[in-house]
Amino acid sequence: MISPRLLAQLACPTCLEAAGCARCSRPAGHAGCLDYAARVACACGGPDKVALAAEEGGLRCPCCARVYPLQADYADLWTEAGGDPHEGTLYDDHEFQERLRVSGAPPLLSARVKADLMRGMLDLAPGEAVLDLGCGAGKMALYAHGHGARAAGLDAAPYFLPAAAAAVDLLRGDLRRLPFRKGSFAAAYSIDVLEHLDEDGVRDLLLEARRVLAPGGRLFVYTHAMESSRLASFQRGVNRLAKRLGRAGLIDHEREAMRKADHRNPLRSHEHFDALCAGAGLAVRERRYYNVVFKAVVEDLGLRLIEQARAKRKRTGTATEHGHGDVHGDVHVHVHEASPVAPAQPGRMALAVGHALTWLLKLDVVFFGGIRTGPFFALIRPLAPAAAPSEPSK
Ligand SMILES: [Zn+2]
Ligand SMILES: [Zn+2]
Ligand SMILES: [Zn+2]
Repeated sequence: MISPRLLAQLACPTCLEAAGCARCSRPAGHAGCLDYAARVACACGGPDKVALAAEEGGLRCPCCARVYPLQADYADLWTEAGGDPHEGTLYDDHEFQERLRVSGAPPLLSARVKADLMRGMLDLAPGEAVLDLGCGAGKMALYAHGHGARAAGLDAAPYFLPAAAAAVDLLRGDLRRLPFRKGSFAAAYSIDVLEHLDEDGVRDLLLEARRVLAPGGRLFVYTHAMESSRLASFQRGVNRLAKRLGRAGLIDHEREAMRKADHRNPLRSHEHFDALCAGAGLAVRERRYYNVVFKAVVEDLGLRLIEQARAKRKRTGTATEHGHGDVHGDVHVHVHEASPVAPAQPGRMALAVGHALTWLLKLDVVFFGGIRTGPFFALIRPLAPAAAPSEPSK
């Protein structure tokens, strides 16, 4: 779904208006867009992107004449101009999405810890426009929408939940070439995404985030730098155990490995991230670390043991029925075939347990949020743009 309000804010991801400051202005015409990289990085904040005009079949850029299609559930503003499409390929694969087994259930456990830190640090007010940078299936955007925000989500892969498509503005696009006019959002967030980009990608994403944020806007990020605290060795120990149990078939370790398969881990340290932010005209105002002690035990080990045991019981149950040539064989075959594809919808009891465990997981941030380690939550704000250069002083 694309609301009329967001439609008015869509822009060509690669075309820049002629007007900027003395340094980034160019004569009118598409030739000026070819100097994209230097102009968007201008200290003044760069020129605005060219607004799109709605026409039959899509959205047309009056500058480069490209027509971006409007799909039933989302607007497709993907462009190849962002460079290496590597990180899109895996997530663009439909089978990969199905194997991730994303369900429409509200975020729980560590996903909920991240969601609530996002909400708390951004301090979202009802009706505020918020952009999910790398929204995946749209679960987090749906969560923000449920708390009264006007949410929009953008991802390279257009595998969105039907519930998200019905409630939230969804776009396919490149995080390094955001298709929005300047100042379109009061807030933006990016959760579990930066680690998939290379350093240039992070630089581009931060520049773009600053540009689409309104004055006084806020950006929330959850990702990790390549460092660890002493507590992290505990987590590594639990992970080693989980891997061993995975080999023994007691844990489905494959899904987690799959998620991390294309990590590029561009952030060397927190200072490195600070420097990348400063280079994009942003500053980290608040940082909390995520030392996963409770999460390692509860989510990475305990719950996956239970999950795997249940999956096994279901499989053996099915096999037994087949072996006996049960008259209900057909039904079981159906269930068996449907289970790897259809995401499990948790029942009421499971949800209650999930909520209780989520509170337990929040203790990781309460107890250890001040201990420096790799994974972190950050609240980032735009710096005031630099004064336009070479203006004669009055
Ligand atoms: Zn400029
Ligand atoms: Zn152009
Ligand atoms: Zn264009």
